Parts: sequence; C-alpha cells; structure tokens
Amino acid sequence: SSPPAQEAIRIINRLREAGFTAYLAGGSVRDALLGKSPKDYDVATDATPDAIRDVFGRKRTLAFGASFGVMGVLPDRRSASPGDSRQASVEKVEPTEVATFRSDGVYLDGRRPDSVHFGNAEADALRRDFTINGLFFDPVESQIIDYVGGREDLNRSLLRTIGDPRQRFAEDKLRMLRAVRFATTISFQIDAETANAIAENAGEIEVVSGERIGVEMRRCMASEHLLSGLDYLRELQLAQHVLPELLQMDHARIAQFFQKRRPRDFPVALAILLLASPAANAALKAITERWKLSNEEVRIVTTALRTAPRLAIAHQVPWSKIQPILTDRDAAFVLDVASDFAAAEGLGDEGIRRVKEALQLPADVLDPPPLLNGSDLAKLEIPAGPVYTKILRELRRRQLDGELTTREEAIAEVRATQW
Ligand code: ATP
Ligand code: MG
Repeated sequence: SSPPAQEAIRIINRLREAGFTAYLAGGSVRDALLGKSPKDYDVATDATPDAIRDVFGRKRTLAFGASFGVMGVLPDRRSASPGDSRQASVEKVEPTEVATFRSDGVYLDGRRPDSVHFGNAEADALRRDFTINGLFFDPVESQIIDYVGGREDLNRSLLRTIGDPRQRFAEDKLRMLRAVRFATTISFQIDAETANAIAENAGEIEVVSGERIGVEMRRCMASEHLLSGLDYLRELQLAQHVLPELLQMDHARIAQFFQKRRPRDFPVALAILLLASPAANAALKAITERWKLSNEEVRIVTTALRTAPRLAIAHQVPWSKIQPILTDRDAAFVLDVASDFAAAEGLGDEGIRRVKEALQLPADVLDPPPLLNGSDLAKLEIPAGPVYTKILRELRRRQLDGELTTREEAIAEVRATQW
C-alpha cells in the first residue's frame, strides 16, 4: 500500500494501543473497494480532539476544525526517514485527517450543521452523505464495517443517500451536486428516490457559493464520463442553476465534442465545451465569475479558444501561423483541446499529426534563430523606428514558411523591398 495509506494505518495502530477505536473512513474505503487509488486516507476514531493531541503530542497535531472534531496528525519525524534529517525537512509533510466520531446537530444555513456531538461509529456513519461514503475499514481485523448498506450499493453501482434524501438534501444543499459528481466520476446510477429528491429541490442549490459549486463542477468536467454528468445536470434540473449555458447548447453537438472518452484537465474540458457553444466568450466570462476561475485558467482557456481550431487544420495553414502556438508555454494544452476539436468537426487527424511531429523536433529546429536582428538592420542603414518590428516580423514569417533560408537571402530581401 501507498505511503499515505501506511501512515494512516500507523496512526490507527497507535490509537488502538492507547485504547481507542479507529478506522479508515469515507472516500478511501469506497475507492479501495472500487479498485481506484484513493486521493487521501481519513481516519475516524472515538478519541476526542484532546485525546488525539495527548496521543500524538502537540508538535504532531494541528487543529483543522477542532470544533467539528477534525484534527490533522503529522508523520512522526523520528520514524519518517531515520538518519537523514536534511531530507526529512525538505520533504512535503502531509497531515492525515483524524476525526472524532460525531453526529451533526441541526442545519440552519443549508450548508453546515449548527453544532456537532461526539458519538459512536454508527452515528458517524449515519451523518455521512451517501451509503458508499459511509463505510469504515478496520485494518487490524482487515474488515469492512458497514452500518448503511454501502457495500451492497457499491456492488450495484448505485448512489443513494443515507436516510431520507429529502431531509439529507434539505440539511446540506451541496449534497445534490455531490451526488452528480460522484455518479459522474465513478459512473454510478443515482437511485430513483435520491434523484427525485434532487429534481424537486434543485433550485435550492442557489444557497451554495459559486466557488463551492465550481469545486464539484471541476471534478465532473475532468471526468471521462462528463457526458453523463451533463445529462444528470439537465435531467435533475440542476443545469439552469449551476451551468445555464448548457441549456443554450445542442446536446448532439456537445456529444460530438466529447466523443473521445478520456479524462481531461478541467481547463481542457471547459475549452472544449466552450468551442461547442454558440457564445464562447460570453459563457467563459459568466463561468469565470460564478466559479471564480483563476487568472491562469482563464488565460489558457482563452488561448485555446483562439488557437485550437487552427492547430486542428495545421496541414492547411502556413507554418508561420502554427509555429508560434507550438513554441508558447500553453502548446500541450492547446494540442489537447485541438485533438478533440478535430474529431468533433470531422477534420481528420492530419493536422494533429503534423503538430505532434513538430513538437518532437529539436528546439532549434522548431524555433530556429532569426536570420537577422535589429543591429543587422542598422548596419543596412535602415533608419531606426517602428519599421524594424514590421521588417523583422515579415522576415520571420518568410523564414518559417520556408521562403528565406539564409542570412544572405534575408539581406537581399531587405535591400530589395520598399519598407
Ligand atoms: P474525494 O476525496 O474523492 O472527493 P471523499 O468521499 O473523500 O471523496 P470528501 O469531500 O473528502 O469526499 O469527504 C470525506 C467524507 O466525508 C465523505 O466520504 C463523506 O463520508 C463525508 N462527507 C463529505 N462531505 C459531506 C457532506 N456534505 N455531507 C455529509 N457527509 C459528507
Ligand atoms: Mg476525500
């Protein structure tokens, strides 16, 4: 098992030695049973935050959300990498989340409980959102502990709330979108009652912040199954609240654009969706504001919208219009978008193949040094001024398009032309 899994198990063993109950909980148990590698390993225990601090010491514990009973436990430096303190100090130290079994009090704001009460493992399972997220694993006995029927739902590929879906979604409206996210990323069906409860209450997703909605939507869009995620958003009436742009778009066209079944970085998926949209720039602006996209995300999506369609037909376009895209830092990203665009628009893969070949070239071949520079122009007694930019740009274009190959040709060209 992975280092973070081993670390979580060490923490569980330590809590056991101190007389507490402790299990792996939530997503890591679900993912392991699905044969996927978990993102992180959370521990649930009957030890209170104070007891957790006593067991691991002040130096190793962080109060993540002590009022919710969530502590962070850092790896033990002494056991981490013996004999090499220098390495240990530069190593990225990820704390393991250790949470006290709890049940949640009343929900007042549609997002978070007003208070929590420490409780037992069963109560802790029952406060979780979906049955497949309510499982524990006891690494000492090597046994799953299932109070909620999660294992059966995992076997049936079914996403179902723990308890009455109407009540669970009324408590925390974000769960409606989490349902779509999990159903999408692990390709599960949403149970009929759970789905009906979402469709009936979808409008209430509006109480959740756009940023938090963006977190879930990023995960949906990055999934290889995003088409079924988009279907769910429509069917469950969430689309008009979280991605209204979708309703302006032709379903069959979107399916064309995402015909390659593969996971994508979120900005790649967003750029492809926008390329399928009739009003890409307006949609990007609205989504940026709603989900609080980073400047970096906006920059690369904007670049892709402008350049990916050209890369897709690279074989039909002068090289001087392609080469600058490939020497830009966003080249790999744009190529990723362009390959889906080419497939969607039935452009064949000739352009994409050309681009991939070019990206394999040595740097000085893909991006050859200019034939002339500004001081060469001065030596040719061209008066300094904005014309330099014009001349150098034109020489560069002709060089890239293979019309000029030597300095001498470039000099002759400069002399022969009335700039
Ligand atoms: P991943 O980390 O892959 O997103 P996860 O299941 O670990 O999946 P987290 O958001 O990290 O999801 O939450 C950890 C666990 O906490 C979940 O498995 C679930 O049991 C519980 N949980 C998280 N969010 C909620 C919520 N809004 N309502 C109820 N339980 C929740
Ligand atoms: Mg998690």
